[in-house]
Amino acid sequence: PILANQIAAGEVVERPSSVVKELVENSLDAGADRIEVDIDKGGAKLIRIRDNGCGVVKDELVLALSRHATSKVATLDDLEGINSLGFRGEALASISSVSRLTLTSRTAEQSEAWQAEAQGREMSVTVKPAAHPVGTTVEVVDLFFNTPARRKFMRSEKTEFAHIDELVRRIALSRFDVTLILRHNGKVVRQYKSANTVQEQERRLAAVCGTPFMHHALAVSSEHSDVRLWGWLATPAGARPQNDLQYTYVNGRMMRDKLINHAIRQAYDELLPAGSFAAYVLYIELDPRQVDVNVHPAKHEVRFHQARLIHDFIFQALFSALHEAAK
Ligand code: ADP
Ligand code: MG
Repeated sequence: PILANQIAAGEVVERPSSVVKELVENSLDAGADRIEVDIDKGGAKLIRIRDNGCGVVKDELVLALSRHATSKVATLDDLEGINSLGFRGEALASISSVSRLTLTSRTAEQSEAWQAEAQGREMSVTVKPAAHPVGTTVEVVDLFFNTPARRKFMRSEKTEFAHIDELVRRIALSRFDVTLILRHNGKVVRQYKSANTVQEQERRLAAVCGTPFMHHALAVSSEHSDVRLWGWLATPAGARPQNDLQYTYVNGRMMRDKLINHAIRQAYDELLPAGSFAAYVLYIELDPRQVDVNVHPAKHEVRFHQARLIHDFIFQALFSALHEAAK
């Protein structure tokens, strides 16, 4: 099965930041409200994610590391309306097939913690007692040590860390209620304290997007047949030639979706010279049964059942907001 695992790893585990994404999503699914991300050497040496979520019971540690084992979907019906970020049960197995991975965890019911480690070509898992508060730590050491081709594809420490930093920023905007700490080579790089008031949320937004964005940020909020769109977008007056502030979320999931991007682009293009700058942080919320997230292994694309309706709603809402602001 190791071969199958390494093939699957190609889909989910592209580079250190993809590991961080999968592990932080697991922490969020576990209900954590504090997540610490420790990175050494851009993630090539160490990726450690520590959370205060529900933990994994001792008897399920081995299962958690095996392929297609997930606690998140029990029935086919669950697949229809996915609420959790993970559901394929592939991430831990894939990551452990291309690194030295340990999973240390304790649930509230257990008086002690346990650590599981996948070893050798057969990926046999050993479990031993450990010290850990309620929650989970996943440690990924020497990523791609056994897949030289992938290891070669890793960029410089600086570049790989920049990808991780960008990812953490995106996640920080997906869950204002969660404290996130990012360290690189032992130094704190980002510290987002849980933000619960509007004021605190805007402070986090400013920390992630910078003050220029905030100066021109226009809050939007719109609703149409059970679809809600809210967030911030930079008004035409704030137009700057910088295109990297484009964050969209569907039901709390980070997305780079063609349909959404097209609708947003179209709204900007109606009011600005075509192709000019757009910056936004936008949230779309709808009944999970109206959207299929099972299209892309890394889950950044979706399929809306009512694609046309969603597209036109986004366009209309943003066009009105931008138009109003331009007056
Ligand atoms: P998926 O997230 O798709 O279920 P993963 O391979 O990412 O698959 O994780 C496998 C299982 O391990 C999860 O379904 C969950 O039960 C458990 N798990 C992984 N990470 C954590 C965590 N940080 N806290 C609690 N449980 C976890
Ligand atoms: Mg997962």
